[in-house]
Amino acid sequence: MALKVHINGTLFDKEDARISVFDHGLLYGDGIFEGMRSYNGKVFRLDQHLDRLWDSAKSIWLEIPISREAMTQAVDETLKANGIQNGYVRLLVTRGCGTLGLDAHLCKDPQVVIITDHIALYPEEFYQKGLEIITASTLRNHPAALNPRIKSMNYLNNILAKIEGMQAGCVEALMLNHKGEVAECTGDNLFLVSKGRLLTPPTDAGILEGITRQVVIDLAEEAGIPVLQIALTRHDVYVAEECFLTGSAAELIPVVKVDSRAIGDGKPGPVTARLRDLFRNLVRQS
Ligand code: PMP
Repeated sequence: MALKVHINGTLFDKEDARISVFDHGLLYGDGIFEGMRSYNGKVFRLDQHLDRLWDSAKSIWLEIPISREAMTQAVDETLKANGIQNGYVRLLVTRGCGTLGLDAHLCKDPQVVIITDHIALYPEEFYQKGLEIITASTLRNHPAALNPRIKSMNYLNNILAKIEGMQAGCVEALMLNHKGEVAECTGDNLFLVSKGRLLTPPTDAGILEGITRQVVIDLAEEAGIPVLQIALTRHDVYVAEECFLTGSAAELIPVVKVDSRAIGDGKPGPVTARLRDLFRNLVRQS
């Protein structure tokens, strides 16, 4: 069965799912998106993803042309049409067609696109052994320029850092902010375990406020693990007992080496394993 893609209320076969080359999404990366997971046919934390989508839209002066209810229904229909129970859902809202100039006011027809597919997770081996990452020289976008809290369709900042990571043989790379503090990875948030506490950079470090990040913070607090959202340096990462990343696609994945330094004993740690179990149980129930 050909994969069906939702565009503005209609389901198209994958091959026929097209957007104009005059869409400012293509011309300028002008648009917003969400990357979500479905478990047992239901999108995990859909409300939070839609909150973030609507916040991103407001921040870039983009009016989403359909209601939240219609969006929820469209996501549901797209998943059902593709028979996907456990998968990935990509939601885009582009600025729409305009001229070759920058003027967003000339774009009258924002496009809503929903793509869903089976999930391409990292190989199981990465979860068992943990990732090795490097620090990219590309800094995360300055929050006063393009705030990382906006999940914009312009991902070049992250892509440049990802290329650096891949060139060093790493599937993820750590990004620092303009102050030289730890921000996040190219497509995942970062956590450390130190002295029985969970540490993660705060929102004002210039990060995307990950939905998975918040779920993990809540799970840790419920499990009696203190969570601190504080500014972190690379030194904090190097001397941490454990390190892991979170994201809708990756879920929780251990990191065992950063910039050639082993983290803790160089193996995925017990707190990471515990939180990963709690997370797996939660999504299985959802
Ligand atoms: N940071 C960045 C830059 C991301 O792109 C993502 C995921 N797309 C995340 C963090 C993780 O966010 P979430 O848990 O909402 O998927």
